[in-house]
Amino acid sequence: MSLESFFSPKSVAIVGASRRKGKVGYEILTNMISSGYEGKIFPVNRSADEIEGLTCYPDLSSIGETPELVVVIVPARFVLGIIEDCAKLGTKSVIIITAGFKEIGEEGKKLEEEIVRVARRAGIRIIGPNCLGVIVSSSKLNASFGGDMPKAGGTGYLSQSGAMLAAILDTAKANGIGFSSLFSIGNKADVDELDLIEALAADPNTKVIAGYLESIGDGNEFVREAERISHQKPILLMKSGGTTAGAKAASSHTGSLAGSEVAYECMFARAGIIRCDSITQQFDFAQAFASQPLPRGPKVVVLTNAGGAGIMAADAIERQGLTFAKLAEETIDRLAASLPAAANCYNPVDVLGDALPDRYEFALDVLLDDPSVDAVVVLLTPQAMTQAAETAEAIAKTAQAKPDKPILACFLGASKVEAGVKVLREAKIPQYESPEAAVATLRAMADYVLWRSQPKRVVKLFPVNRRKVESIIDRHLRKGAREIGEAESKEILEAYGFATPKGSIATTADQAANIADQLGYPVVLKIWSPDILHKSDVGGVKVGLKSAQQVRDAFDLMMYRIPKKMPDAHILGVLVQEMCASGREVILGMHRDPHFGPLMMFGMGGVMVEVLKDVAFYLAPLTGDEAKRMLMNTKTYRILQGVRGQEGVDIEAIAEGLQRLSQLVTEFPQIQEMDINPYVVGLPGTTPIGVDARISVEK
Ligand code: ADP
Ligand code: MG
Repeated sequence: MSLESFFSPKSVAIVGASRRKGKVGYEILTNMISSGYEGKIFPVNRSADEIEGLTCYPDLSSIGETPELVVVIVPARFVLGIIEDCAKLGTKSVIIITAGFKEIGEEGKKLEEEIVRVARRAGIRIIGPNCLGVIVSSSKLNASFGGDMPKAGGTGYLSQSGAMLAAILDTAKANGIGFSSLFSIGNKADVDELDLIEALAADPNTKVIAGYLESIGDGNEFVREAERISHQKPILLMKSGGTTAGAKAASSHTGSLAGSEVAYECMFARAGIIRCDSITQQFDFAQAFASQPLPRGPKVVVLTNAGGAGIMAADAIERQGLTFAKLAEETIDRLAASLPAAANCYNPVDVLGDALPDRYEFALDVLLDDPSVDAVVVLLTPQAMTQAAETAEAIAKTAQAKPDKPILACFLGASKVEAGVKVLREAKIPQYESPEAAVATLRAMADYVLWRSQPKRVVKLFPVNRRKVESIIDRHLRKGAREIGEAESKEILEAYGFATPKGSIATTADQAANIADQLGYPVVLKIWSPDILHKSDVGGVKVGLKSAQQVRDAFDLMMYRIPKKMPDAHILGVLVQEMCASGREVILGMHRDPHFGPLMMFGMGGVMVEVLKDVAFYLAPLTGDEAKRMLMNTKTYRILQGVRGQEGVDIEAIAEGLQRLSQLVTEFPQIQEMDINPYVVGLPGTTPIGVDARISVEK
């Protein structure tokens, strides 16, 4: 159902409008009036005839027409009655400002649920309760008590915290930042973050969607929709408060490494959402996204009137992983022909301390023509002859004439550049506190461009033996077992196309020696117990056994020592396993996030994985590209490619392993956590081997 009536209602009733200054009911009414709202305003108050010159009605039904939007400020116990009145009248959009619902406990929760039930039956949409209200610039609607109407701008904002919204409005006012609309979503009883993101995506006045969220409703739907919307408009989010789900005890490596924040990071990466760490950064980003074209690539040029500032910007470009633009010969010649001899015509282009607006205008114009420039950072320091306001005008004029590339300004200083900053703001050239902040913004833009340019995601499906996996999992679940041991985990892996070492279980030393004879030497002996998850920790892995005697000795030693270390462990015997050729040990894993589903992990494997923590995560299902990007996001990647004369390993084979694992956990939601550690990979063309695996399942 459309949220149109929240954006541009023809009439608004304010139930609980008040004559008393300082009361919310008064603030909202006066905000409505002073914002210049052109529709009808109906104050509703039982004991007043008139407030602020407007006729007041004792209740909604006395108005005599149907208000398109109703704002509710009366105490919680009266709210249900108001919703029933709205249902009778046919009002479809309600903002409940009142607090005292879900956030106060069980009783409030029940009341809130009852309200939603009545509203749903009548087709009413509700924003709130427990919120600050709604502001929409284009319809001069300020149905909030968050503050004065901000300037109009291209950013649509939604906030789960009313207080944050008030802080945002205040900061925006001080910095002359504009909004298309702001929504305080409160308890999200009905309209939630996704509804509003969708509405802002469809709103022609909104160029950038920004928000502050503490929680997200349906994770899967959110990812899907946000990904679709990110292709049309950038979404900039501040997210606070980790989920507690990640904290629950984890039995796999992946589980213990996937903190609660990882799921959100993965979700943002997948959906193309740009994460912001602070209000300042969110404004930095939003301004540029709302007012500037997107850069075509990562190549940045710096234009400055001071060497030091130029170097700061150059350092920032390098730190942010952007490209320091190498100017074309022609550009350098053109600059050299007209700038003073002492000027620097290479990046950073220094027009010198005595530069007047004409020099900035000329140089900026030439730089914008250069095909090896994707974006410009214009720096200005207030020196003796500097004309900040006039220079800002010159920059604005040039930007208007050549509007294809983003221009970000950083006028350093305070009172001496104030007039210039004002001109920049009016001309919609974003101004930054520091070269670093401007460059960080360009990085966010370049990342977004890169994300949008990715080919459509295609997930490859491998032919597998699903039935086999199903029977193993079912058998465990029927017994109430959560952990699938090494042997059956390997059967599962084999069903999904992984190679694993051969081997069998022995209960006596002689039996172990027999199995080893059949496998051929060297072999590996591993303790076999459902109670021992990390075998090496208790001396339960012995590699490189070269003879039957060594196998017998190793068996006896394990049987003597391990029961002493772990008296409660139920020891079934040992696994005698063929020893695989040496290679690099990596880990492939999965941890199922309760909100966003399977999180895939890749990293440096072996027994040190938790110590080194060199791992990368991504949401399943994985495409081939994503699997490879996961590899590239670890330090291990360089080692895998081969360093210092060592040959590289089969990167494609690892990426395929990750995709197969991703298919397995996508097809079996019962799998909660799993990892293959180590996954031993060798030279290109050899088959990687899943040496050890652990799978935990749940109904
Ligand atoms: P755990 O992780 O429970 O301690 P693993 O089965 O992963 O036990 O074995 C620990 C280490 O021993 C592995 O990381 C690997 O280096 C080595 N290892 C185990 N099995 C083999 C094998 N079949 N071939 C070669 N090396 C092995
Ligand atoms: Mg292991």
